[in-house]
Order: sequence, then C-alpha cells, then structure tokens
Amino acid sequence: MPEKIFIQQFNPGEEIVKVGEKGRNAYFIEKGLVEVSTLQNGSKTILANLGPGEIFGEMSMIDDAPRSATVRTKTYTEVIVIERSRFTQPLSSADPIMQLLLRVLLARFRDSQNLMNGVRSDAKKHGVSIDEIRNLAFDRIQRESRLREALKANQLELHYQPIICLNSGELSGLEALVRWRLEDGYVLPSKFIPLAEESGFIIDIGKWVLETALIEIHKIKTAVQNDTNHIKQPFLSLNVSSIQLLDPAETKTLCDIIKRSSYQPEKIKLEITESFLIGNPDHATSTLFNLKKLGVSITIDDFGTGYSSLSYLHKFPFDTLKIDQSFVKNLESSESSFTIVNCIIQLAKALNLSIVAEGIETQTQFKKLKELGCHFGQGFYMSKPLPLRQLLPKLQKNQTWP
Ligand code: C2E
Ligand code: CA
Ligand code: CA
Repeated sequence: MPEKIFIQQFNPGEEIVKVGEKGRNAYFIEKGLVEVSTLQNGSKTILANLGPGEIFGEMSMIDDAPRSATVRTKTYTEVIVIERSRFTQPLSSADPIMQLLLRVLLARFRDSQNLMNGVRSDAKKHGVSIDEIRNLAFDRIQRESRLREALKANQLELHYQPIICLNSGELSGLEALVRWRLEDGYVLPSKFIPLAEESGFIIDIGKWVLETALIEIHKIKTAVQNDTNHIKQPFLSLNVSSIQLLDPAETKTLCDIIKRSSYQPEKIKLEITESFLIGNPDHATSTLFNLKKLGVSITIDDFGTGYSSLSYLHKFPFDTLKIDQSFVKNLESSESSFTIVNCIIQLAKALNLSIVAEGIETQTQFKKLKELGCHFGQGFYMSKPLPLRQLLPKLQKNQTWP
C-alpha cells in the first residue's frame, strides 16, 4: 500500500504540479521555495512565491478539478505530500492538518491572490494564530511519521491478556493488545491508536496485528497443550477498528490473512465497537456476515458505553458480548451498575451470546460476576496483558486464574 503522507525532494526548476493535471495531493513546504504561475495568452503570470511552512495543492482535498496553476521549484525543495485518500474524516474534523488545509481553502475562496494573508485574518478571528495551527499540523505529521517508522523498525509488540472461564478458573482465550516499545518503556494504544485511526494508518497496523497474533498464537497453544496433556486451543480475540472495515478491499485483505493462517477460524474472535455499526448499518451488516462466513466469531466490545445498543444485539450477527469495564468497576459500590450488569447478562443469555466481563480488578467483582452467570472474565485481578516471554512460562505451569 502506498504511503499516504511522505516527504519528496525536488531539484531547482522541477515541476511539482502541472497545470491541467488531476489533483490528488496537497503539499506542505518543509524547505526551499516554489513559484506558482499560470500561462495567459502565452505569457507567464506569477501568482505567488511560497516558502517553508506554506501550502499548495489544497484544492485537491475537496475535488478532482484539474490544477489551475503550475508549481515549479526555484531552489532545492522538500515538501510533505498529503494524499487525499488518506483522509478518512471530513475536512472539518479536529485534526490540525485538516484544520490548516480548511483554513487555507476558506481563505483561498475569499481572496485567491492574497492567500496567506487571508488565512492569517481568518485564524485571528478564531483566536488562534495561523502559526499555532501550522505547528500543530506539522507536529501531527511528525508523530505520524514516527509511528510509521515504528512499524517498519519492528517497534510494535503484542501483549496478551488471559480471558478466564469464571466457573473453572481455567484459561479460555487471550486478547491481543498492541504496544509501542521504546527504550524507556511501552507506549499504550490510547496514545497512538486514535492518531492511527485519523490518518488511516490503522489499516497497516491492523494487518500487522492480525498476522503477528496468528503466528504467535501457535506458541501459546503449544505451551497450553504441553502441560495439560489434552488438546486445548484457546481462542484469540483481536481488536478491529471500524476504519479497517469501511473499505471492502481492506476487509478482503483481513479475510485473506485469516484464511492463510493455520489457526482454526472458530477460535478467532474479532472485537468491534459500536462506532462501526452506527455510521452505515447496512454496510456493517454485510461486512460482518462476510467475516462470519470464514467461521470466525464477532464480539461487540465496550458494550453499554455508546448510544446502546439493545436493538443492535439481534440486528447484527454477534456471538459474544463484552461488558465494558466501567460497569464492572462500579459493581460493588453502585446498585445501578449491579442492576445494569445483571440485565445485560440475562439479555445476552436470552440471545445465546457468550459473555465476557472486562476490567475485573477484585475478588468481589470476580465472585459477583460468576454468581450472575457471566461466562468469562478478563482483568488485572487475574492477569495484566503480558508479553509472550512472560506469558508462556505461566501457561506451562498449568495454573488456574487468579
Ligand atoms: P479494549 O479493547 O477495551 O481493551 C481492554 C483494555 O483494558 C486494555 O487496555 C487492557 O489493558 C485494559 N484492562 C484490562 N483489564 C483491566 C483491569 O482490570 N483494569 C483496568 N483499569 N484496565 C484493564 P490497553 O491495552 O491500553 O488498550 C486500550 C484500547 O486500545 C483497547 O481497549 C482497544 O480499544 C485499543 N487497542 C489495543 N490494541 C489494539 C489493536 O491491536 N487494534 C485496535 N484497533 N485497537 C487496539
Ligand atoms: Ca477489546
Ligand atoms: Ca473493551
């Protein structure tokens, strides 16, 4: 898959944008100088000279209209290229890159000759300086580049959190959770998954997660089997972002990875959240049915936190419901949380869904959920998510959890 955001270098006198060609990219100038010009009756009119921190080609973020001007470098120039296809969110989202492009677009409509001045006054009206927005946008681009580098440099790692059968205390499955390994520790997904989702890079991360987990699960399976003397195959839960399932071609790639793997699809649970269901329910239904054709199961994650959700439960082909940690956390202290958890469990049972409670941190929570008839549980009380090297020795001891 081509990179959606990258740096390109040009020598003096090279054309970056040709008049008349179809626009696909916007460009931020990192270094150098460019000249924006048109040809009128055979003679060249210079529209603008742009330097570091300035933007051109932003019109292509909203339509395919042919380029109205030529952009040629005057000196050696480096530009950050933003491909339109990278945008999975509308231009008006909170993403600083889009904010900046939007501001530039607005200003350009108002006053095409005096482009950056227009942007400056527009930004002033909103109480933010254009330099502040620009710094934010460049900061975003740099963080995104670092994340891309991390994937290339093998700095992503999966940790696995045991999912336990509440009745027997035995290991039933594991959830794979991605981490970014740095020299001084791990970056948790809350710090980089939102960025990856906004930029569309979650598609590459998601593929890596799926491929890696489906290789590593064999080591886990061997460790479990070695000790118990009878074949046990734990299920593998994987988080799939809505962004990964929006494009049918990307869904097909996920299906191909699953088909290629030798892990039984019946033992793979894909966890999705409600956000995937609300945007386009018809698309969500057909995508989920296509995934189910492979034999995998589908889990609704963080159940109870969104617009919820009762009607979703029978509309979409779920096999498992995961009760969100916020309810589990308040199980002991709040009567209403207890009632809600009880209702969710009864409802899920009536619909023949298996139920996982996440975020179990105490013995009381464990016991209460077991009494209420919840099937599986996951939480720090049993085990934190662990890297493979720490998980495998534990599995070999055939322990029950906690
Ligand atoms: P999630 O899918 O709801 O994952 C459960 C989160 O709860 C994990 O956080 C886990 O470490 C944490 N957790 C488990 N037990 C306890 C507990 O007893 N107490 C508390 N306080 N927390 C507990 P983590 O690993 O930081 O992941 C956060 C979120 O990042 C995940 O929430 C998921 O939405 C996302 N994420 C993680 N890995 C991936 C991935 O590979 N792909 C995608 N798309 N998202 C991922
Ligand atoms: Ca999850
Ligand atoms: Ca969850």
